[in-house]
Amino acid sequence: MPDKRDYYEVLGVSKSASEDELKKAYRKQAKKYHPDLNPGDKEAEAKFKEANEAYAVLSDAEKRKNYDQYGHAGVDGQGFGGFGGAGFDIDLDDLFGSFFGGGFGGGRQRRNGPQRGANLKYRMNLDFMEAAFGLEREISIKKEDLCDSCHGTGTRDGSAPDQCSTCHGTGQVNQRQQTMFGAVMTSRPCPTCGGKGTIVKDACSSCSGHGRVQKTKTLSIKVPAGINEGEMLTARGEGEPGTNGGPYGDLYIEIHIRPHPVFTREGYHTYCELPITFAQAAIGAEIEVPTIDGPYNYNLKEGTQPGDIFTVKGKGIPYINRSNMRGDHRFKVILEVPSHLSDEQKDILRSFEETCTEKNYQKRTGFFSKLKDLFK
Ligand SMILES: [Zn+2]
Ligand SMILES: [Zn+2]
Repeated sequence: MPDKRDYYEVLGVSKSASEDELKKAYRKQAKKYHPDLNPGDKEAEAKFKEANEAYAVLSDAEKRKNYDQYGHAGVDGQGFGGFGGAGFDIDLDDLFGSFFGGGFGGGRQRRNGPQRGANLKYRMNLDFMEAAFGLEREISIKKEDLCDSCHGTGTRDGSAPDQCSTCHGTGQVNQRQQTMFGAVMTSRPCPTCGGKGTIVKDACSSCSGHGRVQKTKTLSIKVPAGINEGEMLTARGEGEPGTNGGPYGDLYIEIHIRPHPVFTREGYHTYCELPITFAQAAIGAEIEVPTIDGPYNYNLKEGTQPGDIFTVKGKGIPYINRSNMRGDHRFKVILEVPSHLSDEQKDILRSFEETCTEKNYQKRTGFFSKLKDLFK
């Protein structure tokens, strides 16, 4: 392969570079060209591969010796490009794991790149009227947050923690195992740093080096009019902090509505039952119907029957985020038959009853004529 660049040139180091210098130079190149930072850039991808190859050879003492003696001819065809390759003993995951997901061998995941913080959930209990008309409410949430003293670094002076020397910051250590099918690489969380990739040497006294503390945060939450049972509000960025520079999660506020002694709700419609008297039902009346706005004057028609349902337009729940529109209020009349009548009242009712004709009780009349037909 005549076009191949010199491996030392690729990494930008001298022929006498130490192992450490090689590693540093390689990291620099790999970070600059790695595909995650250069999506769709073919040239960067090629450079990234070139650097990988150069480092794979130069970091292997035997291959480096061959390369120094014979150039590319000394190392080509030796199976670069996979863990199963002969004599290929570099810990690739170690190098790539921290900034490159996928690539070598495939299927590996970025293990300690920036990660979004956890979302939190808060249950908010509202009264029926609070949900109907909305309100602003202060809530206190307990959550894990970044330590103020060290700004989340965990170090006494707030500086970035040191890279873990066992896993070189990847948080993972690899093991090469020989099996009957060949060499297999397995990885597990680094035992030195617990998978974080960093080591805090001089710990912050407020958080003992964790970088996080329990905090209670007070938030003012605007609850819109018309919100309903089980609906969710989102407070963006009020969840837990991310790791490795990742963003905060969100806080979800789940709404629960306490039952009302009079009203129930069906979507944006409200509903109640209203007891009326026998006389009101018979001769009609101006009655006061309870609505969520207060009493509403309603002309009950004469001859109202028990169980009749009436609608008051636009007296229901305001539509969420469209508070100029509202559902309706419906009420069902419950007829209460008078009890504990005095002798005088009973006499009045008896005289009243004597005046009644079939015309006054059409349902009853209809029912009995049906019965008569049946038993003819
Ligand atoms: Zn701290
Ligand atoms: Zn480690």
